[in-house]
Amino acid sequence: MKVLKFGGSSVADSSQFAKVKGIVESDPSREVVVVSAPGKRFSGDNKITDLLYLIHAHIKYGVAYDNILSMIKERFEEIRESFGLETDIGQIIDDAFAGVDKKTSADFIASRGEYFCARLMAEYLGFSFVDSTEWLVFDYNGKVDNKKSEKKLRELKEIYEKIVTPGFYGAYPSGEIKVFPRGGSDITGSLVAAYLSAEIYENWTDVSGILMVDPRIVSDPKTIARVTYDELRELSYMGASVLHEDTVFPVRIKDIPVNIRNTNAPDDPGTIICESFDDELAEEHERFITGITGKRNFSIINIYKNKIGENKIRLLRQVLEVFDRYDIPVEQVPSGIDSFSVVFPTSSLTSRKYDLMHELTENENIDNCELTEGISLIAIVGRQMAYRTGVSGKIFKALGDNKINIRTIEQGADEINIMVGVYDKDFEKAVRVLYDSFAR
Ligand code: ASP
Repeated sequence: MKVLKFGGSSVADSSQFAKVKGIVESDPSREVVVVSAPGKRFSGDNKITDLLYLIHAHIKYGVAYDNILSMIKERFEEIRESFGLETDIGQIIDDAFAGVDKKTSADFIASRGEYFCARLMAEYLGFSFVDSTEWLVFDYNGKVDNKKSEKKLRELKEIYEKIVTPGFYGAYPSGEIKVFPRGGSDITGSLVAAYLSAEIYENWTDVSGILMVDPRIVSDPKTIARVTYDELRELSYMGASVLHEDTVFPVRIKDIPVNIRNTNAPDDPGTIICESFDDELAEEHERFITGITGKRNFSIINIYKNKIGENKIRLLRQVLEVFDRYDIPVEQVPSGIDSFSVVFPTSSLTSRKYDLMHELTENENIDNCELTEGISLIAIVGRQMAYRTGVSGKIFKALGDNKINIRTIEQGADEINIMVGVYDKDFEKAVRVLYDSFAR
């Protein structure tokens, strides 16, 4: 049994709905469908969820919102009319907003996009509509109650078999609606797949999988065929926008693979995310890099102390305590014999920059300290890199041949990630050089 989640662009209008139907009907094991609210049909268009939050803001300030509600209605009516569906979505929308006033929560209003969408999708597919308030239970501390939710969903699945359920929201035991953070339908899909022990969680979106590198930097990069959860975490942490960490957690603990697929190109195999792969594909083995990602705007503070010797640990502790007090997340701590550096996001320092530098220079155990801004960190990630010789050599040679100076170097303990720091001005060039030497 497969669980499918369709994102906003996959359900943006009737033509997208038709693609969803084609996909679902092409495989009888595709039994449970989770939907987002309709997203953008073209660039410059509005997402239904954004319009709903806008309505909430209007209500809060006592401003009329009829025109926004009409836009929302038109979007859903277009879908209903195209397929001649019986679900009277106009009436359902009116009913939902009939009792809305200043006391109505933003969560309730925001959740309606998924609700309306799932109502239409259920009829269109001939599946049963099961509201997520019937099974997705939040504790009063805002966390999902997995035990209760799983039990309820399993019971409902027994009764209805083929289900459409809205993503993004659930309910407190009181019945009051609570939403996940934005983009949270991915989390709903993952929970459904985990609770029902699905064979696979298919996450249908508008790209044919995760790309090896940011397409704004390298044109037409290759898609990653297979990636492990650990690799994905490294890639996401360093800037690749894939799935939220909360998304992978439920399926990961149950060892259910996630397949990122493209609703607009359903024959593309997409990307498989898994705990591990027993059989490595020849191509992956040869390339041994899974992806390259990076972020700009880091700073480095270099700390020097002549003959630092055995006092190094104490000084390290003192310096890191200062960073802790300033609440600055430390990214790396590369070190030499009489020096070490601390790498951190520049945005975490801002106006307190001089206070921090002052405090460090005042420390009598430090001879000299200097701040360099404008550093980018680039992560080269690949499970095949682990325990293989020559990878870092290849990285440094590629960058060196292209006259890119490396400011910092770090390798994760599991050897699936090598990180280099370069100046911001070299960032894009460095990513391109690395991609060209590993992936082409
Ligand atoms: N519709 C919600 C949003 O736009 C949730 C989702 O699509 O995942 O954030």
